[in-house]
Amino acid sequence: MAMRIGQGWDRHRLAPGRPCVLGGVTFPDFPVGPVGHSDADAVCHAIIDAVLGAAGLGDIGDMFPDTDPAFAGADSRDLLATAWGAVRELGWYLVNLDVVIICEGPAISPMREEMRAKIAATLGSTAAAVNIKATRGEGMGPEGRGECVTVQAVALLEDA
Ligand SMILES: [Zn+2]
Repeated sequence: MAMRIGQGWDRHRLAPGRPCVLGGVTFPDFPVGPVGHSDADAVCHAIIDAVLGAAGLGDIGDMFPDTDPAFAGADSRDLLATAWGAVRELGWYLVNLDVVIICEGPAISPMREEMRAKIAATLGSTAAAVNIKATRGEGMGPEGRGECVTVQAVALLEDA
């Protein structure tokens, strides 16, 4: 049995007039949302980079170029499903995933279980294997000023 580990990191600016979607979950009452070519779901993007990295498949920009109009406004859970399909084709399964979301808002904890369930379903795994943590910037840096959301993810895969 082989095991592989991968990390992912993503950051998106937060701006008014954008739906706030993180980890496939919409935060309907939050006044700003991540800005990007797709729905800019930084949680899904960091997870994509973690699982692609573990499988040696490059990164999200290789698979979904932000110059491609096909991905404009894309639902990042669909992108995650596509990336995970490529990882699965190589015979990898998810052992576990650990995610850290760094932002002043929205408050992640009320939506944490929904987020875990959606990500686990996309990865053919169980919520127990998907851990979501959230922390704040304590007033420092772009996260602390509420200018952006930053996400780190680590994924462990095994081949049996
Ligand atoms: Zn992104």
